[in-house]
Amino acid sequence: MSTGLSAELLSRFAAIVGTRNALGTNDDLTHYTHENRGYVVGHTQMVLKPVNRNEVAEILKLANETRTAIVPQGGHTGHMGGAVPLKEMNSIVLSTERMNKVIDLDLEGNTLCVEAGVILETIQNLAAQNDRLFPLALGAQGSCMIGGNISTNAGGTGVLAYGNTRDLVMGLEVVLPNGEIWDGLNRLRKNNTGYDLKNLFIGAEGTLGIITAAVLKLFPAPAGREVAWAGFSSPQMALAFFQSAKARAGNQLTAFELVPRIGIDYLLKHFPKYRDPLGASHSWYGLVEISSGRSIEEARNLMEEIFSQGLEGAIVEDGALATSLAQQKLFWQMREDLPHSQRPEGASIAHDISVPLGRVPELIERGEPLVTAIVPGARMVAFGHLGDGNIHFNFSKPEGMEDGDYMVFREQVNAAVFELVLELGGSISAEHGIGLFKRDILEQVKSPVEMAMMRQIKQMFDPNGIMNPGKVLNRLSDQS
Ligand SMILES: Cc1cc2nc3c(=O)[nH]c(=O)nc-3n(C[C@H](O)[C@H](O)[C@H](O)COP(=O)(O)OP(=O)(O)OC[C@H]3O[C@@H](n4cnc5c(N)ncnc54)[C@H](O)[C@@H]3O)c2cc1C
Repeated sequence: MSTGLSAELLSRFAAIVGTRNALGTNDDLTHYTHENRGYVVGHTQMVLKPVNRNEVAEILKLANETRTAIVPQGGHTGHMGGAVPLKEMNSIVLSTERMNKVIDLDLEGNTLCVEAGVILETIQNLAAQNDRLFPLALGAQGSCMIGGNISTNAGGTGVLAYGNTRDLVMGLEVVLPNGEIWDGLNRLRKNNTGYDLKNLFIGAEGTLGIITAAVLKLFPAPAGREVAWAGFSSPQMALAFFQSAKARAGNQLTAFELVPRIGIDYLLKHFPKYRDPLGASHSWYGLVEISSGRSIEEARNLMEEIFSQGLEGAIVEDGALATSLAQQKLFWQMREDLPHSQRPEGASIAHDISVPLGRVPELIERGEPLVTAIVPGARMVAFGHLGDGNIHFNFSKPEGMEDGDYMVFREQVNAAVFELVLELGGSISAEHGIGLFKRDILEQVKSPVEMAMMRQIKQMFDPNGIMNPGKVLNRLSDQS
């Protein structure tokens, strides 16, 4: 392990972007070095903020020649520690925050081409101002950047109707580890000309190159949207309601989020602005959204039909439709604030997992006793994207227990949950990726053939191992 990068080398990097855009150890680097929940604190001697792809290319060329590790960073909201510069790697952080230009908007082709550092919410707003929808939506949308979203193949609440980020990307521009620029800014809906290279970079978490721009798909803005809370006696009933809503509404069912009663209790306790969404208390809740390309009336009629059918069949216990746009927003805010409402309850052992849709109730029913057998009193807060089979399977510490005493059980709890997930045919990472935190488990869940292919791809693009080393895969030099 080397002792650090020389002053001479650091000044060569700084010269590429100009000293004003190169932060050093005399600056406050906290945002760039600290994982956003404080789970891991990294270290870097320099943060570079290039303004365009040519500067990115110069940086990577120099990094490749000098074997300097580079950690790409967008909004630094990722949940897997992927953008944290690890001290032992002596890496330089490359932040895309100044690469925030809109390149073009094609309303006839329904595409938007932007640089990697554009904030997700800016893209959503730009689409809305032009009567279009960019459906990627997640709690960090005010600070995460599209390059980070693409590099993590982010999910969120719009996946049900529109797919993951991967489904929303038509083309990419990438700077390869040797400094070459690949202009793959495809705007064609059909283009069957060989290997689909862009899909290698989507979800690669910055280990294969730096995404500098992307062509995104836009959709017509819905003419009407309705949002409602539903109450259920069990996850099984919530799933039955989802299935009947999906059968009736098809892709007009644009969201279906599951929330447990404990989540509502946390929200009411820690965010006084919220009210109990339904008159009586229910064990489980669903936040249901219906969109219509035609009218508000169509969305409302469809929502009412779905609820009447659910009430008649005794699948849903109660429902409340938002009566104004402001209330729709409030309903959604409750859902987005759910993860934040867990924080004041102390340490949480969190899992971002997915199982085949029909097995979500079994995951919850079997998962809770598995964990409470390890830590009696651990409080299950299982919530999220039910319609995608993706549950944030979190457990708050038992009341009265110290955070540190709880977290010693983390590995044991993780092992029990992951074993169940795999038995149910699921995935240990539904939407947050692998990064640093799940890197060492990857080998246990992928076959040797898959691991070998992944390493060969890494070796081919990045033979010197400069791109985000130690993330997703161990460093190639660490492999036997
Ligand atoms: C409150 C909250 C709610 C969230 N909800 C969701 C959710 O519902 N669904 C979901 O999927 N995620 C969610 N996340 C996680 C996070 O917001 C996403 O992973 C997001 O896509 C990360 O974007 P970012 O710009 O912050 O990327 P960063 O955290 O900066 O980086 C993430 C990874 O991508 C790499 N990277 C970043 N930019 C580039 C680039 N231009 N080229 C190559 N590699 C790059 C980094 O090296 C790192 O490995 C949430 C996070 C928070 C804090």
